[in-house]
Amino acid sequence: MEKKKESPQPYSNFDQLLINGQWRHGKGAKVLNDFNPYDGKVLVEIPHANRDDMDEAYRGAAKVQLEWAALLPGERAAIMRRAAQIMEARREEIVTWIIQESGGTRIKANLEWNAVHGVLLEATTLPYLVEGRILPADIPGKESRMYRKPVGVVSVISPWNWPFQLTARSAAPALAVGNAVVVKPASDTPVTGGLLLAKILEEAGLPPGVLSVIVGAGSEIGDAFVTHPIPRVISFTGSTPVGRNIARLAAEGPILKRLELELGGNGPFVVLSDADLAQAVEAAVFGKFLHQGQTCMSINRFIIDDRIYDDFVERFVDRVRQLKAGDPNAPDTMIGPIINESQLNGLQQRIHDAISSGARQMLGGDAQGLVLPPHVFSQVTNEMQLAQTESFGPIAPLIRAHDEADALKIANDTDLGLAAAVFTQDAERGLLFAQQLESGMAHINDQPVNDLPYNPFGGEKNSGVGRFNGVWAIAAFTTDQWITIQHTPRHYPFDARAFTGFGAER
Ligand code: NAD
Repeated sequence: MEKKKESPQPYSNFDQLLINGQWRHGKGAKVLNDFNPYDGKVLVEIPHANRDDMDEAYRGAAKVQLEWAALLPGERAAIMRRAAQIMEARREEIVTWIIQESGGTRIKANLEWNAVHGVLLEATTLPYLVEGRILPADIPGKESRMYRKPVGVVSVISPWNWPFQLTARSAAPALAVGNAVVVKPASDTPVTGGLLLAKILEEAGLPPGVLSVIVGAGSEIGDAFVTHPIPRVISFTGSTPVGRNIARLAAEGPILKRLELELGGNGPFVVLSDADLAQAVEAAVFGKFLHQGQTCMSINRFIIDDRIYDDFVERFVDRVRQLKAGDPNAPDTMIGPIINESQLNGLQQRIHDAISSGARQMLGGDAQGLVLPPHVFSQVTNEMQLAQTESFGPIAPLIRAHDEADALKIANDTDLGLAAAVFTQDAERGLLFAQQLESGMAHINDQPVNDLPYNPFGGEKNSGVGRFNGVWAIAAFTTDQWITIQHTPRHYPFDARAFTGFGAER
């Protein structure tokens, strides 16, 4: 008879932070109340870290990093593989945390679990892909090499919307290629944004000090976290205004540092005249309302060819009307709670402004607690606030385009450029259209919410700098060092008449 696997004891003591290999309370003056946004219950009270805690985390990371980097690639890979196995054994525990802390529906929580599991499996391959090169050298007797090294310590700052995934997407590859990491999760999601991953990696055998997680007030440790002299790369995922501020701070500290910025989006979803409307509507609903629209890649604008606009609007509204809003734990709920009151207030203001600026409300309704039902607006123009800025909520603006050229112009008329999508039954037409989109990512006959751990993820314009995943993550979290060896004595050009330049000494 097959032996039934016992479930592991759920993790506990989430009121403690992981600082330099020790689980302990932060020494800050304040306590963070971590709420469930659906029922308002406090999940855990976490004493904040202060600056000394942060300093200890960075110093500890710097101390152990070289030892960690010196492990065999297979040893680092094995920890990532064990972490993925631990996730499998703790699937329901992890999914439950995502539901209760980030307000994600069960559908979203399972997708997020899959995404992190994929990131960890991908991280098992990365230690084997860090390679140097032998380079040409136009200097007699010189051998030239490029060594690729981990940067040292990486800071990870993540947002609250897909906290488990967005922390893991930076931390796992950074660790796999030999860096130490200090994570600062968002205040709304301290557990899924950092502490949970730390428990998993600790159980998987990550040596003490290699990963620290500190939770603290932006006012006390926010700026100092970026300006601290130890980290070499700041991997920030969040809004464009905060990202700009992080870039300024990274330039101001005592040591300049590299930035990986994954910022806001204003995703266009373009439906051309020959699109399969049934498919386009299904994709549109998913790409707009998954996680209540609180995803950087979410559809922010629907741009529909005039010839099919009325048909699309009718079908879309009918389909959205069927979506279930409410308890995120129910298996068929598509729309759960907004993360907090201040975000909800912002969305209600947007809805009010959209109506005053002449958009026609096709669907709507009042919020129940933090659950805002889906809102659909037709007769939206690209100049309206609703189209020009990121909604980050369950609000769908439908814009009419005269034709394909107009649709392209509207799609690109934004300062953001993260993910985009275009629907057409002619794949070549879709490709030509996608290539002209000013976005880091474009999907033909799909919606824009896609992230595969081995494909490049990132934005253009104000949506960010750099790319995540696979070999792009290796570039993000390593640095190239040029080392040469002079094998025979070199003849230096002490006479200018014999000197032909640094690169062509013959
Ligand atoms: P946010 O910019 O308000 O906060 C992000 C993180 O930065 C939080 O952890 C916050 O505590 C921290 N922070 C703020 N000021 C700081 C400072 N001075 N120093 C250090 N840390 C600081 O973003 P949010 O509201 O949590 O997330 C939503 C935004 O994130 C949206 O704009 C969304 O599009 C964007 N986002 C982008 C991606 C992407 O991959 N491009 C993914 C998810 C979310």
